Order: sequence, then structure tokens, then C-alpha cells
Amino acid sequence: MIIKRFRAENFRNIEKCDIEFSPGVNLLYGKNAQGKTNVVEGIYYFSRGKSFRGREDKELVRFGEAGFRIKLDFASETGEESLEYAMFGKERLRKKNDYKITKVTEMIGSFKAVLFYPDDLGLVKDGPEERRGFLNVAAAACYAPYIRYYSDYKKALENRNCILKMMQKGLPVDYRELESWSDSVAEYASHIYLFREDYIKRLTVYAGKILGEISDGGEELTLSYESSVASGIQDRLTVKEEYKKILTSSIDREIAAGVTLFGPHRDDLDIRINGKSARSFASQGQQRSIVLALKLSEGEVIKEICGEYPVFLFDDVLSELDERRRKYVLSEIGDRQIIITCCDRNECVGFTDNEIEVSGGKYVSSYR
Ligand code: ATP
Ligand code: MG
Repeated sequence: MIIKRFRAENFRNIEKCDIEFSPGVNLLYGKNAQGKTNVVEGIYYFSRGKSFRGREDKELVRFGEAGFRIKLDFASETGEESLEYAMFGKERLRKKNDYKITKVTEMIGSFKAVLFYPDDLGLVKDGPEERRGFLNVAAAACYAPYIRYYSDYKKALENRNCILKMMQKGLPVDYRELESWSDSVAEYASHIYLFREDYIKRLTVYAGKILGEISDGGEELTLSYESSVASGIQDRLTVKEEYKKILTSSIDREIAAGVTLFGPHRDDLDIRINGKSARSFASQGQQRSIVLALKLSEGEVIKEICGEYPVFLFDDVLSELDERRRKYVLSEIGDRQIIITCCDRNECVGFTDNEIEVSGGKYVSSYR
């Protein structure tokens, strides 16, 4: 997958831009607050259907303007494609290959990108919520129905929690309703479980290999799925039955807590280095290497499942890596497309195919 061109109008600090990208390593460099991340944000919008930093689309509108427009031209194995998104006040316009589409869900799925930005550096040390977020984004890019199951799960969970809250307060409830929501929770949970289980199994293979390559081969990385149900079950109905058993047997605790205590919303990705918990024992450098290995592996799994590499978007993380890891990234991903932002262009000397100087929302490209 290769981005050819990104255009934006009144997006963040960009009044108007038209940037062309090369197939290999593209560098966006410039001082702070000039508009490097804004481009990454605009591009990645088409992968997730929302911004990775703003909560609402209206934050993306250039101050003082009524709306914005972004457009991405890219080439995939299926041919040349384009995606466009615009918002003006309450109006939304979405286009795919210049034809109008109505739903966000129609917009996402065709353009695949892996984003690595400074917040990801905490993935190892942060709480399970961050790792679940990583799993959700990564799995959604690989399995088309994942998002739907996940949002159905959350809705069912909310309803079940509502009933548990009423029971906690001693209010009368309809037990059949509780039963029915428990069944839905277990049903959706079983799908999510199987996707996560499969995803982590695939991810482990690449992450272990890549970590070996960037760390002298002396460190062994193991990833495993930590879920309310024992990992390794293949049959969905068995998984569902397991979830139902847990929900039934823990009902008294759940009523006391007023929430559902078990399920995919409590899952974690256990990361171990040489058999020891990375969260407790990994050094700063090891954590960075693990996150880098996870991000590169995310791309490998997309390639394995979807048949082609995604675009790698590395926002401001290169300077966080030491010389050796930086070189690994720049040379090893050479056959894929990567868009990197950093302040100091010298960090990438000798490795770039296209350099774009960024200043005040303006982009000047110099192909090497
Ligand atoms: P850094 O190196 O610090 O990460 P950057 O080049 O990545 O900087 P961006 O995050 O792209 O910088 O932001 C550039 C500028 O965009 C900032 O000055 C910010 O104030 C401005 N900005 C953000 N949102 C808007 C908006 N809605 N309208 C106008 N300007 C905005
Ligand atoms: Mg930035």
C-alpha cells in the first residue's frame, strides 16, 4: 500500500496543501508546531475514520473557518484508490474513488496504516487499558467484523451493567432480562476472544523475531493473551459457554460491585522478556525495543492476513530510538512505505527517498 498524494484545506494549521509521497522513506521535518503531526493525523484519519488525537472533528477545522477537507490518493493491490472527507458545520461529505458514500464504516478498511507515536512508548508500562486499545486497533485492521462485534459487546455490557446497578441498589429487576443480556455479552465476547486469540498468536511470531534482530538476539519475547476464559480454546460455542459459566458463578460479586467483572473489557496482553513480566522488569530501552517490535509486527500481521503491507506512520518516535534501532527501521522497512516526522533532518541522512520541509502549515518537497 502506497500513499501517492495527500491534500488538505483548512485542516488544523494547514490552509491548503498538496503533498506527493515516494514509495520508500518519506521524511517530514521542521521545527516544533509547524504542521508535521497534522499531516500524519489527516492521513491516519482514513485508516480509523477518526482523529487519533482530537475527540471531535470540529477541533480539526482551522481556527476561524467553517469546515475542512482532506483527500488521500493511494495505490493498493486492487489499483489506484482515493478517499475524501469533508465537514462543513453539520454537513459531512465522504467519497471513495470519487463516488459519494454515506457511512464512516464504508470509508475505513481500504486504506491500511500502522501508526507509531510517542504515546505508544508507554504501551509496556501503562495499564491494561492501553494494551487493549492496541489490540482493538490492530485487530480491527485485520478482521473486518471486529469493530461491529466490539461495539455490540459494549452495548450489551452497558445494558447488563445497568441491571446489575439496579440489583446493587435493591431495586426490582426482570431476571429474564439479565439472562438475555448475559447471553448477548457471552455471545459477542466469544467472537472478540477468538479474534484476539488468533491475532496474538500471529503477532508473537513476528515480534519475537524482530526483537531478536534489534537486541543482539539475546532477549526472548513472549506475548500471551490474558483473558477471563483460559486461552487456547478454538471452538466458539465452547468459549461462549465458558463466559456464561463465569457470569453465572460470579453474579453475587457482580451485584455487589454493580458492574460486569469479567470479559474482554478486562483482557490484557501479557508481555514477557526472558520469561519475566516486561511491565515490572523491562528497562526503558527494552520497553522501547518491545514497542518498536510490536509496531513492526502489526504491519507484518496485516501483510499476512490482507496480502499487502500497510503504510507505516512514525510520528516523532525516531529520536526516541538509539542509533542502531533507528537504522534498523530506516533500512529494514525500505521496501515498504514509511512516513516519518522529526525535527532534525540529520537523524535520517542517507536513508530518505523524499524529504519534505514543514513550516507554518506549508510543505516543500525535495526528492533525493
Ligand atoms: P512538534 O514537533 O512539536 O510535534 P508539529 O510540527 O508536529 O510539532 P502539529 O502538531 O502538526 O506540529 O501542529 C502544528 C500547529 O497546528 C500548532 O501550532 C497548533 O497550535 C496548530 N493547530 C492545531 N489545531 C489547529 C486548528 N484547529 N487551527 C489552526 N491551528 C491549529
Ligand atoms: Mg508533532
